[in-house]
Amino acid sequence: MTLAIDDLQPQSTGAQQFLQRGERRMLIGGQWVEAQGGERLESLNPATGKVLASIPSGDARDVDLAVRAAREALNSPAWRDLTGAQRARLLWRMADLMEAHLDELAELESLDQGKPLWVGKYAEIPGGIEQFRYFAGEATKIEGTTIPTSINYQPAGKKIFAYTAKEPIGVVGAIVPWNSPIVLTCMKIAPALAAGCTMVLKPAEDTSLTALRLAELMQEAGFPPGVLNVVTGLGERAGAALAAHPGVDKIAFTGSTEVGKLMLEAARGNLKKLTLELGGKSPAIVLPDADLELTIPGVANAIFFNSGQVCVAGSRLYVHEKIFDRVIEGVVGYARGIRLGHGLDPSTQMGPVVSRKQADRIAGYIASGRQEGASVLTGGGQTGPAGTFIEPTVLVDVRPQMKVVREEIFGPVVVATRVSSMEEAATLANDTEYGLAASVWTQDLSAAHRMAASIRAGTVWINCHSMYDASLPIGGVKQSGWGRDSGHQAIDNYLETKTVCAVI
Ligand code: NAD
Repeated sequence: MTLAIDDLQPQSTGAQQFLQRGERRMLIGGQWVEAQGGERLESLNPATGKVLASIPSGDARDVDLAVRAAREALNSPAWRDLTGAQRARLLWRMADLMEAHLDELAELESLDQGKPLWVGKYAEIPGGIEQFRYFAGEATKIEGTTIPTSINYQPAGKKIFAYTAKEPIGVVGAIVPWNSPIVLTCMKIAPALAAGCTMVLKPAEDTSLTALRLAELMQEAGFPPGVLNVVTGLGERAGAALAAHPGVDKIAFTGSTEVGKLMLEAARGNLKKLTLELGGKSPAIVLPDADLELTIPGVANAIFFNSGQVCVAGSRLYVHEKIFDRVIEGVVGYARGIRLGHGLDPSTQMGPVVSRKQADRIAGYIASGRQEGASVLTGGGQTGPAGTFIEPTVLVDVRPQMKVVREEIFGPVVVATRVSSMEEAATLANDTEYGLAASVWTQDLSAAHRMAASIRAGTVWINCHSMYDASLPIGGVKQSGWGRDSGHQAIDNYLETKTVCAVI
Protein backbone atom coordinates (compact mmCIF):
# COMPACT_ATOMS: atom_id res chain seq x y z
CA MET A 1 0.00 0.00 0.00
CA THR A 2 1.44 3.38 -1.01
CA LEU A 3 -0.02 6.41 0.62
CA ALA A 4 -0.24 9.72 -1.24
CA ILE A 5 -0.24 12.67 1.13
CA ASP A 6 -1.17 16.20 0.12
CA ASP A 7 0.77 18.99 1.78
CA LEU A 8 -2.27 20.44 3.57
CA GLN A 9 -2.05 23.88 5.17
CA PRO A 10 -3.70 25.15 8.36
CA GLN A 11 -6.98 27.08 8.08
CA SER A 12 -6.76 29.17 11.26
CA THR A 13 -5.08 32.56 11.07
CA GLY A 14 -3.33 31.85 14.38
CA ALA A 15 -1.60 28.70 13.11
CA GLN A 16 -0.73 30.39 9.80
CA GLN A 17 0.83 33.37 11.58
CA PHE A 18 2.71 31.15 14.02
CA LEU A 19 4.26 29.15 11.18
CA GLN A 20 5.03 32.24 9.08
CA ARG A 21 7.47 33.33 11.79
CA GLY A 22 9.45 30.18 10.93
CA GLU A 23 12.43 30.69 13.26
CA ARG A 24 10.97 30.34 16.72
CA ARG A 25 12.70 31.47 19.90
CA MET A 26 12.47 30.12 23.44
CA LEU A 27 11.22 31.86 26.59
CA ILE A 28 13.57 32.69 29.46
CA GLY A 29 12.69 35.22 32.16
CA GLY A 30 9.89 36.71 30.04
CA GLN A 31 12.17 37.27 27.01
CA TRP A 32 12.06 35.37 23.71
CA VAL A 33 15.67 34.41 23.10
CA GLU A 34 17.99 32.41 20.89
CA ALA A 35 20.11 29.61 22.34
CA GLN A 36 23.44 30.87 23.71
CA GLY A 37 25.25 28.60 21.28
CA GLY A 38 23.15 29.87 18.34
CA GLU A 39 22.28 26.32 17.24
CA ARG A 40 18.87 25.39 15.84
CA LEU A 41 16.83 22.24 15.23
CA GLU A 42 14.28 21.69 12.50
CA SER A 43 10.74 20.74 13.39
CA LEU A 44 9.26 18.49 10.71
CA ASN A 45 5.73 17.64 9.71
CA PRO A 46 5.86 13.85 10.06
CA ALA A 47 3.14 13.31 7.44
CA THR A 48 5.19 14.91 4.66
CA GLY A 49 8.72 15.12 6.07
CA LYS A 50 8.72 18.86 5.26
CA VAL A 51 10.18 21.49 7.59
CA LEU A 52 7.53 23.38 9.55
CA ALA A 53 9.72 25.70 11.60
CA SER A 54 12.99 25.73 13.47
CA ILE A 55 13.59 25.94 17.21
CA PRO A 56 16.64 26.89 19.28
CA SER A 57 18.78 23.96 20.37
CA GLY A 58 19.46 24.88 23.98
CA ASP A 59 22.25 23.54 26.15
CA ALA A 60 23.47 23.81 29.75
CA ARG A 61 24.02 27.59 29.44
CA ASP A 62 20.42 28.23 28.45
CA VAL A 63 19.14 25.87 31.12
CA ASP A 64 21.22 27.74 33.69
CA LEU A 65 19.74 31.09 32.65
CA ALA A 66 16.23 29.64 32.72
CA VAL A 67 16.71 28.09 36.18
CA ARG A 68 18.00 31.42 37.51
CA ALA A 69 14.99 33.21 36.01
CA ALA A 70 12.65 30.66 37.59
CA ARG A 71 14.37 31.12 40.98
CA GLU A 72 14.11 34.88 40.73
CA ALA A 73 10.41 34.62 39.87
CA LEU A 74 9.86 32.22 42.78
CA ASN A 75 11.23 34.81 45.18
CA SER A 76 9.63 37.85 43.58
CA PRO A 77 6.60 39.40 45.30
CA ALA A 78 4.80 39.49 41.93
CA TRP A 79 4.46 35.70 42.18
CA ARG A 80 5.38 34.71 45.75
CA ASP A 81 2.80 37.00 47.32
CA LEU A 82 -0.15 36.04 45.15
CA THR A 83 -3.02 34.45 47.03
CA GLY A 84 -4.36 31.07 45.97
CA ALA A 85 -7.36 32.86 44.47
CA GLN A 86 -5.08 35.11 42.42
CA ARG A 87 -3.12 32.12 41.08
CA ALA A 88 -6.46 30.43 40.36
CA ARG A 89 -7.62 33.39 38.29
CA LEU A 90 -4.45 33.24 36.18
CA LEU A 91 -4.86 29.50 35.63
CA TRP A 92 -8.51 29.95 34.71
CA ARG A 93 -7.60 32.74 32.29
CA MET A 94 -5.09 30.41 30.64
CA ALA A 95 -7.84 27.79 30.22
CA ASP A 96 -10.09 30.40 28.59
CA LEU A 97 -7.30 31.48 26.25
CA MET A 98 -6.61 27.90 25.22
CA GLU A 99 -10.30 27.46 24.50
CA ALA A 100 -10.35 30.63 22.41
CA HIS A 101 -7.35 29.30 20.45
CA LEU A 102 -8.56 25.69 20.24
CA ASP A 103 -8.60 25.42 16.43
CA GLU A 104 -5.19 26.96 16.10
CA LEU A 105 -3.64 24.75 18.81
CA ALA A 106 -5.24 21.64 17.28
CA GLU A 107 -3.83 22.51 13.85
CA LEU A 108 -0.34 23.20 15.19
CA GLU A 109 -0.35 19.98 17.21
CA SER A 110 -1.55 18.01 14.21
CA LEU A 111 1.10 19.47 11.91
CA ASP A 112 3.94 19.06 14.40
CA GLN A 113 3.01 15.67 15.85
CA GLY A 114 1.01 14.09 13.00
CA LYS A 115 -2.17 13.30 14.93
CA PRO A 116 -5.59 13.82 13.33
CA LEU A 117 -7.07 17.22 14.05
CA TRP A 118 -10.03 15.70 15.92
CA VAL A 119 -7.74 13.98 18.43
CA GLY A 120 -6.38 17.33 19.56
CA LYS A 121 -9.59 19.27 19.19
CA TYR A 122 -12.02 16.94 20.95
CA ALA A 123 -9.84 14.89 23.30
CA GLU A 124 -6.37 16.11 24.17
CA ILE A 125 -6.59 19.90 24.16
CA PRO A 126 -9.89 19.96 26.10
CA GLY A 127 -8.13 17.58 28.49
CA GLY A 128 -5.29 20.10 28.83
CA ILE A 129 -7.71 22.97 29.36
CA GLU A 130 -9.44 21.06 32.14
CA GLN A 131 -6.09 20.56 33.88
CA PHE A 132 -5.91 24.34 34.27
CA ARG A 133 -9.49 24.58 35.55
CA TYR A 134 -9.16 21.64 37.92
CA PHE A 135 -5.93 22.91 39.46
CA ALA A 136 -7.27 26.48 39.58
CA GLY A 137 -9.70 24.99 42.10
CA GLU A 138 -6.89 23.26 43.96
CA ALA A 139 -4.93 26.51 44.30
CA THR A 140 -7.44 27.76 46.87
CA LYS A 141 -7.48 24.50 48.84
CA ILE A 142 -3.86 24.11 49.88
CA GLU A 143 -4.20 23.44 53.57
CA GLY A 144 -2.13 22.30 56.52
CA THR A 145 -3.51 20.82 59.72
CA THR A 146 -3.36 21.72 63.40
CA ILE A 147 -1.93 18.80 65.32
CA PRO A 148 -2.54 17.97 68.97
CA THR A 149 0.75 16.68 70.40
CA SER A 150 1.61 14.51 73.40
CA ILE A 151 4.77 16.46 74.29
CA ASN A 152 5.04 16.63 78.07
CA TYR A 153 8.23 18.62 78.63
CA GLN A 154 7.09 22.12 77.74
CA PRO A 155 7.88 24.81 80.34
CA ALA A 156 5.50 24.84 83.28
CA GLY A 157 2.29 26.69 82.57
CA LYS A 158 2.85 26.71 78.81
CA LYS A 159 1.13 24.85 76.01
CA ILE A 160 2.22 23.45 72.68
CA PHE A 161 0.62 24.72 69.52
CA ALA A 162 1.63 22.75 66.41
CA TYR A 163 0.51 22.91 62.84
CA THR A 164 1.67 22.13 59.32
CA ALA A 165 1.86 24.52 56.40
CA LYS A 166 2.20 23.56 52.74
CA GLU A 167 4.79 25.47 50.74
CA PRO A 168 5.75 25.34 47.06
CA ILE A 169 8.58 22.88 46.45
CA GLY A 170 10.43 25.54 44.46
CA VAL A 171 11.80 25.49 40.93
CA VAL A 172 10.41 22.57 38.90
CA GLY A 173 12.08 21.13 35.82
CA ALA A 174 9.42 19.54 33.62
CA ILE A 175 10.46 17.19 30.81
CA VAL A 176 7.76 15.87 28.50
CA PRO A 177 7.55 13.49 25.50
CA TRP A 178 6.17 13.92 21.99
CA ASN A 179 3.11 11.68 21.86
CA SER A 180 0.53 14.08 23.32
CA PRO A 181 2.50 17.29 23.85
CA ILE A 182 -0.22 19.77 24.86
CA VAL A 183 -2.10 17.69 27.38
CA LEU A 184 1.06 16.24 28.95
CA THR A 185 2.54 19.73 29.25
CA CYS A 186 -0.63 21.07 30.89
CA MET A 187 -0.53 18.12 33.32
CA LYS A 188 2.80 19.51 34.58
CA ILE A 189 2.25 23.27 34.39
CA ALA A 190 -1.21 23.46 35.99
CA PRO A 191 -0.55 21.70 39.34
CA ALA A 192 2.96 23.14 39.69
CA LEU A 193 1.81 26.73 39.26
CA ALA A 194 -1.34 26.15 41.34
CA ALA A 195 1.07 25.19 44.14
CA GLY A 196 3.05 28.41 43.66
CA CYS A 197 6.13 26.83 42.07
CA THR A 198 7.94 28.17 39.03
CA MET A 199 9.01 26.03 36.11
CA VAL A 200 11.55 25.37 33.40
CA LEU A 201 9.88 23.24 30.72
CA LYS A 202 11.84 21.13 28.23
CA PRO A 203 9.48 19.91 25.52
CA ALA A 204 10.38 16.97 23.26
CA GLU A 205 12.65 18.03 20.42
CA ASP A 206 10.29 16.61 17.78
CA THR A 207 7.24 18.49 19.05
CA SER A 208 8.15 21.79 20.70
CA LEU A 209 5.93 24.13 18.70
CA THR A 210 2.79 23.97 20.81
CA ALA A 211 4.80 24.36 24.04
CA LEU A 212 6.10 27.65 22.63
CA ARG A 213 2.57 28.71 21.66
CA LEU A 214 1.29 27.77 25.13
CA ALA A 215 4.07 29.89 26.63
CA GLU A 216 2.87 32.88 24.59
CA LEU A 217 -0.64 32.32 25.92
CA MET A 218 0.74 32.09 29.48
CA GLN A 219 2.25 35.54 28.99
CA GLU A 220 -1.05 36.83 27.64
CA ALA A 221 -2.86 35.34 30.64
CA GLY A 222 -0.67 37.50 32.87
CA PHE A 223 1.74 35.08 34.55
CA PRO A 224 4.74 37.15 35.72
CA PRO A 225 8.05 36.79 33.80
CA GLY A 226 10.11 33.76 34.80
CA VAL A 227 7.19 31.77 36.24
CA LEU A 228 7.21 29.58 33.13
CA ASN A 229 10.38 29.29 31.07
CA VAL A 230 10.73 27.04 28.03
CA VAL A 231 14.10 25.71 26.91
CA THR A 232 13.89 23.78 23.63
CA GLY A 233 16.56 21.34 22.57
CA LEU A 234 17.79 17.78 22.62
CA GLY A 235 17.08 15.46 25.50
CA GLU A 236 20.68 14.47 26.05
CA ARG A 237 21.79 18.12 26.12
CA ALA A 238 19.07 20.48 27.32
CA GLY A 239 17.08 17.76 29.12
CA ALA A 240 20.12 16.25 30.84
CA ALA A 241 21.34 19.70 31.92
CA LEU A 242 17.94 20.50 33.43
CA ALA A 243 17.71 17.17 35.26
CA ALA A 244 21.17 17.64 36.78
CA HIS A 245 20.94 21.37 37.57
CA PRO A 246 21.55 22.04 41.30
CA GLY A 247 19.10 24.97 41.22
CA VAL A 248 16.18 22.70 40.33
CA ASP A 249 14.23 21.39 43.34
CA LYS A 250 12.12 18.85 41.53
CA ILE A 251 11.94 17.06 38.21
CA ALA A 252 8.52 16.14 36.84
CA PHE A 253 9.33 13.72 34.02
CA THR A 254 7.11 11.97 31.51
CA GLY A 255 8.84 9.72 29.00
CA SER A 256 10.41 6.33 28.56
CA THR A 257 11.47 4.05 31.40
CA GLU A 258 15.00 4.08 29.97
CA VAL A 259 15.35 7.88 30.27
CA GLY A 260 13.38 7.84 33.54
CA LYS A 261 16.20 5.77 35.04
CA LEU A 262 18.69 8.43 33.94
CA MET A 263 16.64 10.94 35.94
CA LEU A 264 17.53 9.05 39.12
CA GLU A 265 21.23 9.51 38.45
CA ALA A 266 20.78 13.15 37.46
CA ALA A 267 18.78 13.90 40.60
CA ARG A 268 21.48 12.53 42.92
CA GLY A 269 23.62 15.67 43.06
CA ASN A 270 21.17 17.78 45.04
CA LEU A 271 18.69 14.99 45.90
CA LYS A 272 15.97 16.72 43.94
CA LYS A 273 12.49 15.27 44.23
CA LEU A 274 11.23 13.19 41.33
CA THR A 275 7.98 12.11 39.79
CA LEU A 276 8.29 9.71 36.88
CA GLU A 277 5.49 8.92 34.43
CA LEU A 278 7.07 6.19 32.31
CA GLY A 279 6.36 3.53 29.74
CA GLY A 280 3.82 0.74 29.67
CA LYS A 281 2.79 -2.50 28.01
CA SER A 282 -0.81 -2.46 29.12
CA PRO A 283 -3.07 -5.50 28.81
CA ALA A 284 -6.67 -5.48 27.58
CA ILE A 285 -8.42 -8.59 28.89
CA VAL A 286 -11.60 -9.86 27.26
CA LEU A 287 -13.67 -12.33 29.29
CA PRO A 288 -16.07 -14.81 27.61
CA ASP A 289 -19.26 -12.85 28.38
CA ALA A 290 -17.99 -9.50 27.02
CA ASP A 291 -20.37 -7.36 24.97
CA LEU A 292 -18.58 -7.65 21.64
CA GLU A 293 -20.26 -4.63 20.07
CA LEU A 294 -18.59 -2.50 22.73
CA THR A 295 -15.46 -4.58 23.14
CA ILE A 296 -14.22 -4.95 19.57
CA PRO A 297 -14.02 -1.22 18.77
CA GLY A 298 -12.97 -0.61 22.37
CA VAL A 299 -9.90 -2.85 22.32
CA ALA A 300 -9.07 -1.73 18.76
CA ASN A 301 -9.13 1.93 19.77
CA ALA A 302 -7.14 1.07 22.88
CA ILE A 303 -4.18 0.35 20.59
CA PHE A 304 -4.83 2.30 17.37
CA PHE A 305 -5.83 5.68 18.86
CA ASN A 306 -3.07 8.26 18.23
CA SER A 307 -1.24 5.63 16.14
CA GLY A 308 -0.59 3.62 19.28
CA GLN A 309 1.60 6.39 20.70
CA VAL A 310 -0.16 6.34 24.05
CA CYS A 311 1.62 5.36 27.24
CA VAL A 312 -1.43 3.38 28.39
CA ALA A 313 -2.16 1.82 24.96
CA GLY A 314 -3.73 -1.64 25.19
CA SER A 315 -0.82 -3.25 23.40
CA ARG A 316 -1.31 -6.78 24.76
CA LEU A 317 -4.69 -8.32 24.09
CA TYR A 318 -5.74 -11.39 26.11
CA VAL A 319 -8.99 -12.96 24.90
CA HIS A 320 -10.84 -15.94 26.29
CA GLU A 321 -10.62 -18.93 23.94
CA LYS A 322 -14.42 -19.16 23.59
CA ILE A 323 -14.55 -15.83 21.76
CA PHE A 324 -10.93 -15.41 20.60
CA ASP A 325 -11.61 -15.98 16.90
CA ARG A 326 -14.62 -13.61 16.81
CA VAL A 327 -12.81 -10.85 18.69
CA ILE A 328 -9.66 -11.11 16.60
CA GLU A 329 -11.65 -11.18 13.37
CA GLY A 330 -13.46 -8.03 14.58
CA VAL A 331 -10.25 -6.23 15.55
CA VAL A 332 -8.61 -7.17 12.23
CA GLY A 333 -11.66 -5.86 10.34
CA TYR A 334 -11.57 -2.66 12.37
CA ALA A 335 -7.85 -2.22 11.68
CA ARG A 336 -8.35 -2.74 7.94
CA GLY A 337 -11.06 -0.05 7.93
CA ILE A 338 -8.87 2.64 9.50
CA ARG A 339 -8.13 5.47 7.09
CA LEU A 340 -4.53 6.67 7.24
CA GLY A 341 -3.81 10.23 6.19
CA HIS A 342 -2.56 13.74 6.87
CA GLY A 343 -3.73 14.97 10.27
CA LEU A 344 -5.42 18.02 8.73
CA ASP A 345 -7.53 15.91 6.36
CA PRO A 346 -10.92 15.64 8.12
CA SER A 347 -11.41 12.06 6.90
CA THR A 348 -8.16 10.86 8.51
CA GLN A 349 -8.60 8.37 11.32
CA MET A 350 -4.95 7.63 11.96
CA GLY A 351 -1.95 9.84 11.23
CA PRO A 352 1.73 9.04 10.87
CA VAL A 353 3.89 8.28 13.87
CA VAL A 354 5.98 11.17 15.08
CA SER A 355 9.17 10.65 13.06
CA ARG A 356 10.98 8.40 10.65
CA LYS A 357 13.16 7.22 13.52
CA GLN A 358 10.11 6.10 15.46
CA ALA A 359 8.53 4.46 12.39
CA ASP A 360 11.74 2.50 11.72
CA ARG A 361 11.83 1.42 15.34
CA ILE A 362 8.25 0.11 15.14
CA ALA A 363 8.95 -1.64 11.83
CA GLY A 364 11.95 -3.26 13.53
CA TYR A 365 9.65 -4.66 16.22
CA ILE A 366 7.24 -6.06 13.61
CA ALA A 367 10.18 -7.71 11.83
CA SER A 368 11.41 -9.18 15.11
CA GLY A 369 7.91 -10.54 15.83
CA ARG A 370 7.85 -12.22 12.42
CA GLN A 371 11.32 -13.62 12.97
CA GLU A 372 10.34 -15.08 16.33
CA GLY A 373 7.32 -16.82 14.78
CA ALA A 374 4.41 -14.39 15.18
CA SER A 375 1.81 -14.23 12.39
CA VAL A 376 0.79 -10.83 11.02
CA LEU A 377 -2.97 -10.99 10.48
CA THR A 378 -3.17 -7.46 9.13
CA GLY A 379 -0.90 -4.46 8.62
CA GLY A 380 2.82 -4.71 9.20
CA GLY A 381 3.71 -2.20 6.51
CA GLN A 382 5.54 1.13 6.65
CA THR A 383 4.45 3.71 4.08
CA GLY A 384 3.89 7.42 3.26
CA PRO A 385 6.16 9.95 1.53
CA ALA A 386 8.39 10.25 4.58
CA GLY A 387 8.09 6.58 5.59
CA THR A 388 6.31 7.58 8.80
CA PHE A 389 2.99 5.77 8.45
CA ILE A 390 2.68 2.35 10.09
CA GLU A 391 -0.34 0.28 9.15
CA PRO A 392 -2.52 -0.84 12.07
CA THR A 393 -1.05 -4.23 12.86
CA VAL A 394 -2.39 -7.33 14.61
CA LEU A 395 0.04 -10.09 15.63
CA VAL A 396 -1.03 -13.55 16.82
CA ASP A 397 0.84 -16.77 17.59
CA VAL A 398 2.93 -14.87 20.08
CA ARG A 399 4.66 -16.30 23.15
CA PRO A 400 5.29 -14.49 26.45
CA GLN A 401 9.06 -14.29 25.94
CA MET A 402 8.94 -12.59 22.54
CA LYS A 403 10.28 -9.05 22.31
CA VAL A 404 6.98 -7.83 20.83
CA VAL A 405 5.19 -9.09 23.94
CA ARG A 406 7.70 -7.82 26.50
CA GLU A 407 8.84 -4.42 25.18
CA GLU A 408 6.93 -1.20 24.64
CA ILE A 409 6.58 -0.72 20.86
CA PHE A 410 4.77 2.63 21.11
CA GLY A 411 3.06 2.22 17.78
CA PRO A 412 -0.16 0.76 16.30
CA VAL A 413 0.80 -2.86 16.95
CA VAL A 414 -1.19 -5.23 19.15
CA VAL A 415 -0.15 -8.73 20.17
CA ALA A 416 -3.08 -11.07 20.83
CA THR A 417 -3.04 -14.17 23.02
CA ARG A 418 -5.72 -16.83 23.66
CA VAL A 419 -6.40 -17.58 27.35
CA SER A 420 -8.52 -20.28 28.97
CA SER A 421 -9.35 -18.73 32.35
CA MET A 422 -9.43 -15.48 34.29
CA GLU A 423 -6.51 -16.72 36.38
CA GLU A 424 -4.40 -17.35 33.31
CA ALA A 425 -5.32 -13.91 31.94
CA ALA A 426 -4.29 -12.22 35.20
CA THR A 427 -1.02 -14.16 35.39
CA LEU A 428 -0.07 -13.28 31.83
CA ALA A 429 -1.23 -9.67 32.22
CA ASN A 430 1.01 -9.30 35.27
CA ASP A 431 3.98 -10.97 33.56
CA THR A 432 5.62 -7.65 32.68
CA GLU A 433 8.04 -5.18 34.19
CA TYR A 434 5.50 -2.43 33.54
CA GLY A 435 2.38 -1.52 35.51
CA LEU A 436 0.75 1.53 34.01
CA ALA A 437 -2.78 0.49 33.08
CA ALA A 438 -5.09 -2.34 32.05
CA SER A 439 -8.64 -2.84 30.86
CA VAL A 440 -11.11 -5.63 31.53
CA TRP A 441 -14.05 -6.30 29.22
CA THR A 442 -16.94 -8.25 30.70
CA GLN A 443 -20.61 -7.93 31.71
CA ASP A 444 -19.97 -9.78 34.96
CA LEU A 445 -19.50 -7.10 37.62
CA SER A 446 -17.93 -9.43 40.14
CA ALA A 447 -15.44 -10.77 37.63
CA ALA A 448 -14.59 -7.22 36.55
CA HIS A 449 -13.80 -6.04 40.06
CA ARG A 450 -11.94 -9.23 40.96
CA MET A 451 -9.78 -8.72 37.88
CA ALA A 452 -9.28 -5.06 38.77
CA ALA A 453 -7.95 -6.17 42.14
CA SER A 454 -5.62 -8.79 40.70
CA ILE A 455 -3.90 -6.64 38.06
CA ARG A 456 -0.81 -4.73 39.22
CA ALA A 457 -1.30 -1.41 37.46
CA GLY A 458 -1.86 2.24 38.32
CA THR A 459 -5.23 2.30 36.52
CA VAL A 460 -7.70 -0.43 35.59
CA TRP A 461 -10.54 0.43 33.23
CA ILE A 462 -13.69 -1.69 33.00
CA ASN A 463 -15.41 -1.85 29.60
CA CYS A 464 -13.38 1.14 28.42
CA HIS A 465 -9.74 2.09 27.89
CA SER A 466 -7.71 5.35 27.97
CA MET A 467 -10.36 7.32 29.88
CA TYR A 468 -8.52 10.36 31.20
CA ASP A 469 -9.76 13.20 33.35
CA ALA A 470 -8.07 15.92 35.37
CA SER A 471 -9.74 14.40 38.44
CA LEU A 472 -8.42 10.85 37.89
CA PRO A 473 -4.93 10.02 39.17
CA ILE A 474 -2.74 8.52 36.45
CA GLY A 475 0.64 6.89 36.88
CA GLY A 476 2.32 3.58 37.22
CA VAL A 477 3.55 0.85 39.51
CA LYS A 478 6.67 -1.26 38.89
CA GLN A 479 8.83 0.25 36.13
CA SER A 480 6.02 2.48 34.88
CA GLY A 481 7.01 5.14 37.33
CA TRP A 482 6.76 6.95 40.63
CA GLY A 483 3.86 9.15 41.67
CA ARG A 484 0.65 10.25 39.99
CA ASP A 485 -0.35 13.12 37.74
CA SER A 486 -3.94 14.48 37.84
CA GLY A 487 -6.36 14.22 40.75
CA HIS A 488 -6.20 15.90 44.15
CA GLN A 489 -2.92 14.42 45.22
CA ALA A 490 -1.04 15.65 42.14
CA ILE A 491 -0.67 19.06 43.74
CA ASP A 492 1.26 17.39 46.58
CA ASN A 493 3.95 16.58 43.99
CA TYR A 494 4.72 20.29 44.07
CA LEU A 495 4.37 21.03 47.80
CA GLU A 496 6.55 20.52 50.85
CA THR A 497 5.10 20.13 54.34
CA LYS A 498 6.51 22.44 56.99
CA THR A 499 5.84 21.59 60.63
CA VAL A 500 5.59 24.52 63.02
CA CYS A 501 5.71 23.69 66.70
CA ALA A 502 5.40 26.52 69.23
CA VAL A 503 5.42 26.89 73.00
CA ILE A 504 2.71 29.44 73.77
P1 NAD B 1 11.94 9.80 25.95
O1 NAD B 1 12.16 9.27 27.30
O2 NAD B 1 12.89 9.45 24.87
O3 NAD B 1 11.89 11.40 25.97
C1 NAD B 1 11.04 12.08 26.86
C2 NAD B 1 11.64 13.45 27.12
O4 NAD B 1 12.90 13.27 27.76
C3 NAD B 1 11.90 14.28 25.86
O5 NAD B 1 11.65 15.65 26.14
C4 NAD B 1 13.39 14.07 25.64
O6 NAD B 1 14.00 15.16 24.97
C5 NAD B 1 13.90 13.99 27.06
N1 NAD B 1 15.16 13.27 27.20
C6 NAD B 1 15.67 12.31 26.40
N2 NAD B 1 16.89 11.93 26.86
C7 NAD B 1 17.13 12.65 27.96
C8 NAD B 1 18.19 12.70 28.89
N3 NAD B 1 19.28 11.93 28.75
N4 NAD B 1 18.11 13.54 29.93
C9 NAD B 1 17.02 14.32 30.09
N5 NAD B 1 15.99 14.35 29.24
C10 NAD B 1 16.04 13.50 28.19
O7 NAD B 1 10.45 9.39 25.59
P2 NAD B 1 9.69 9.63 24.25
O8 NAD B 1 10.19 8.65 23.27
O9 NAD B 1 9.72 11.09 23.92
O10 NAD B 1 8.20 9.30 24.68
C11 NAD B 1 7.68 8.04 24.66
C12 NAD B 1 7.73 7.44 26.04
O11 NAD B 1 6.99 8.25 26.96
C13 NAD B 1 7.05 6.09 26.07
O12 NAD B 1 7.83 5.21 26.84
C14 NAD B 1 5.73 6.38 26.77
O13 NAD B 1 5.15 5.27 27.40
C15 NAD B 1 6.13 7.43 27.74
N6 NAD B 1 4.96 8.19 28.21
C16 NAD B 1 4.52 7.98 29.49
C17 NAD B 1 3.37 8.64 29.94
C18 NAD B 1 2.84 8.42 31.33
O14 NAD B 1 1.98 9.17 31.77
N7 NAD B 1 3.31 7.41 32.05
C19 NAD B 1 2.70 9.52 29.08
C20 NAD B 1 3.19 9.70 27.79
C21 NAD B 1 4.33 9.02 27.37
